[in-house]
Order: sequence, then structure tokens, then C-alpha cells
Amino acid sequence: MTAISSASAAFRGQDRGNRLFGPVPDVTGDRGYADDHPARVGFFTDTSVCIGCKACEVACKEWNLLPMDDAEGTVDALGLTGASYDNTGMLGANSWRHVAFVEQSRAVDLPMPTVGPPGAADGQRPLEDPPVVHPQVPASATTAEQSAPSQTASGDREIRWLMSSDVCKHCTHAACLDVCPTGSLFRTEFGTVVVQEDICNGCGYCVPACPYGVIDQRQDDGRVFKCTLCYDRLTDGLQPACASACPTESIQFGDLDALQARADQRLAALQEKGVEGARLYGRDETDGVGGAGAFFLLLDEPEVYGLPPDPVVTTRDLPAMWRSVGAGAAMVLGLIASAFVGRRR
Ligand code: SF4
Ligand code: SF4
Ligand code: SF4
Repeated sequence: MTAISSASAAFRGQDRGNRLFGPVPDVTGDRGYADDHPARVGFFTDTSVCIGCKACEVACKEWNLLPMDDAEGTVDALGLTGASYDNTGMLGANSWRHVAFVEQSRAVDLPMPTVGPPGAADGQRPLEDPPVVHPQVPASATTAEQSAPSQTASGDREIRWLMSSDVCKHCTHAACLDVCPTGSLFRTEFGTVVVQEDICNGCGYCVPACPYGVIDQRQDDGRVFKCTLCYDRLTDGLQPACASACPTESIQFGDLDALQARADQRLAALQEKGVEGARLYGRDETDGVGGAGAFFLLLDEPEVYGLPPDPVVTTRDLPAMWRSVGAGAAMVLGLIASAFVGRRR
């Protein structure tokens, strides 16, 4: 990932001549599809309702016939990370979905129910008291919402699990696609990014180009693989396998515009309930990749989930770099020419 922040003054999307960066109103039409192309689709993953069941991971493996592997990508190896209940580890050539398990120790109030008259002093609570809910969060909040960061009077601490099903972001500006020399990676009529494994020559240019570390080479044959957003299912009118399998609707599939509106409502509802850490990730079309086709509602900083806080399409700076190269070459040519012009006969 480039070290230059997308907030750099020179790169705030004002460079209209740079088609590798900034918002794109019609990403599919921009790739040459006719005006009547389907609406852009994507994923809204609401991590606040993810229960970490990994049904999405299994459904993806099953539908796409992906081999079993360990966290290093070794095929037919049933590896245990030994550090977490998450034994997938990360996205890879054989793991196109990965549910991150993040364990956090947070300060919370956990007063225990005890016997005593209503309103008793010194923290005594009658047995028939309603369940204890943190004062910042109303009773209607979900379990994940109740465990949001809080001040504590009792000094109690509690483990909370953050779970998030990660996947290819199907970026508006997909660097993997920009650098692919064979056309193996292409933009579909649905606005998604797909790799054609029979055309991939294994050069691996796309792997370091992806700012999220999503696309990966298979160790045995060198070709790259990643989520296709179930292109084969979309063309048959089906929704992606992972979204179908998710029991809590943490993974929501649909037209991107509708998903964005739904995500905005969900975020507003959580913030109204006092869930301070809630935020959308990949929703902003002015970010470093022009917004993502697969975006997330997180309950903490992106880094906590292993996501880059400020991803930037790695081809963004190419026009500026080529302009600098051109200016340098012109200066060298000018110096050489002046050396000849200034010589005595
Ligand atoms: S997340 Fe990476 S692999 Fe997926 S479309 Fe974006 S650049 Fe390509
Ligand atoms: S959309 Fe399809 S390929 Fe992508 S993660 Fe879900 S099941 Fe796997
Ligand atoms: S996203 Fe859905 S299917 Fe995947 S782990 Fe979370 S709850 Fe389970």
C-alpha cells in the first residue's frame, strides 16, 4: 500500500484528468457496458449482528469447490492457529471469505443480582429486578451493542467478541484490475471484479497492487484467486452463496444504492442508541478507492479488524509519476541540446 494518505492535499479527487482515482457515478458504464446494463450490486456487511458461525465461509468453500487449507494456504492441511478460535487466519487463494474473531477486554458494569428491598443501598439488588443493561444503551440494543465501550463504576471487565466476515471489496477503482496484463481480471456487467482463472498467467502483479491484501496466488500453480461475488449465481438470478447462508443477515446483498441507504439508516439507529464506535467502512465514494462495492458497518477502528484505515488504489499516483518522468526526461534532453548549441566551432 502506498504511504501517501488519500487525504494528501494534491490528491483529493480534484484531479479530473486522473481516471484511476476519485468517485465514479457509473462504474459499469465507465468500463464500456451499454446504458441498459444491470444496476451495480454489492454487499453491506453489518458486523454488529454477526455471530461468528462461519456459515458464510463454508458456503463459499462449498459452492466454489475450494480446497481445504490451513492459514498458510497449504492445501489439504487442517491447521489450527493456536491463538484464536479463528483457524482460517486471513483471506487467501482458497479462502474467499474470512470471519475475523477479535477478542477485546473492555471495562463494563456487571452488578450481580442479590436479595434485598427495591432501591436498597450499597449496590444490593432484588432478584426480581429487570436485567441489567448499561445506562448508555437502551434495552432494545443487541448483545454486541450492549458491550460497546463504556465507563465503569464497579471496575468490572468483560471480554467482548467482534466478528466480521471479510471479503474482496469489489472496489470502484480496483488496482488488481488496472495492473493485470492479460485481461484475466475484468469488471462485470454488475459492477463487480472477477478473475478468470483460465486466462491468469500467474505473473502476480495484482497481489501487491490490492490495498487490502485480498487477492492471493495458489501455491501449487501460481494463479490468483479471490471472491467472484458469485458471478455464476448472479447471471442465473441467484444471490451469492455466502449471503444466502448467513443466518443473521449480517451479509446483505443487493443493489449498491439501496444497501448504502440501508447502511446509513442502521448507522443512525446505532448512534442514536449511544453505540459510539459504530462507523461505516468503504461506504465513502471519496475515499482512496472511490468507495467499495462490499462495505461494512464496524463497531471499532478498522485496524482492530485487520483492515487498512486509509486504503488507496495503488495506481492512483501513476499519472503524477509519469508526468514527473516526462518532465525529467525533457530536462535531460534540454541539457544535452544546450551543450551542443553552446559549443564553439
Ligand atoms: S479488494 Fe483488492 S482484489 Fe478486491 S477488487 Fe479491490 S483491489 Fe481487487
Ligand atoms: S460472493 Fe460467492 S465467491 Fe464471494 S465470498 Fe460469497 S460465496 Fe464466496
Ligand atoms: S456473516 Fe453471517 S454467516 Fe458469516 S459468520 Fe457472521 S453470522 Fe455467520
